[in-house]
Amino acid sequence: MNSPKPVLIHSVKEMQTICRNLSQTIGFVPTMGYLHEGHLSLVKAAKDKAEIVIVSIYVNPTQFSPNEDLSSYPRDPDRDIQLLSELDVDYIFFPSNEEMYPAGFKTWVAVEEITQILCGKSRSTHFKGVTTIVAKLMNIIDPDFMLLGEKDFQQLKVLQQMGKDLNFSTEIIGCPLIREKDGLAMSSRNKYLSPQERKDALCLHNSLLLAQKLFSEGMTASSKIIAAMRDLIVQNKGRIDYIEVIDTDSLESLDELRSGCRIVLAVYIGKTRLIDNVMIKYYQ
Ligand code: AMP
Repeated sequence: MNSPKPVLIHSVKEMQTICRNLSQTIGFVPTMGYLHEGHLSLVKAAKDKAEIVIVSIYVNPTQFSPNEDLSSYPRDPDRDIQLLSELDVDYIFFPSNEEMYPAGFKTWVAVEEITQILCGKSRSTHFKGVTTIVAKLMNIIDPDFMLLGEKDFQQLKVLQQMGKDLNFSTEIIGCPLIREKDGLAMSSRNKYLSPQERKDALCLHNSLLLAQKLFSEGMTASSKIIAAMRDLIVQNKGRIDYIEVIDTDSLESLDELRSGCRIVLAVYIGKTRLIDNVMIKYYQ
């Protein structure tokens, strides 16, 4: 008889043994839990690509700096399991800190340069935590496909760089950013927003829509477009960490917008730091 799905696995050794013995293709979605439709879209994409789907739920302490929200990060494992069982996920990997970082842990994975810009400027150790935990998860699961969201666009590029540089055989696939009906990018951190802040938070997406509109009307100077975005965000009580126009492949800052470039931003709404991005396109 088959065991009920999803099977919950807490031990690294057990997860690794199961994956080693699977003959089917594996699609893997790493998450920190408190799942929303953005995460679930990755699970659906994984189901389309692979025969077996594995989702990890692990709030990785090493990607939070001491002044960040590790202890308050939202968690609801029972609801997460329910949502994943509705999607017929095969395994949920739910490791403890002791399993992932046993006493004596000393090895780190670091991608250079592209981790020092954008989010890396204000979160200097963040990406080292992300690359280390994802490399570990990839070594445990050895998936054929790993599905990541374009919501965290820099993270996607950093992990693709790591996969390439370290010769992981996993194909790392970026999936579209999923938004609430009113345009706010879905994020577990949206839970921190008060009703007023939830309204103010729309300024992130609205500023990106404004940028696209100005570009469509013929404005191309990044400085002018960023200035207009800044005004809109500040009027809505947002505190800007960064707004940048970047090349989609290299993440290099661009002085002029062009079709296919991306605008990325990080903005504090109250105490909550939110990120968002769009690809800029020509419309006929
Ligand atoms: P997190 O649980 O925040 O670490 O996110 C786990 C994965 O879900 C990452 O690959 C994120 O980029 C992705 N993700 C989070 N929010 C969204 C969203 N709104 N749309 C698409 N993917 C998302």
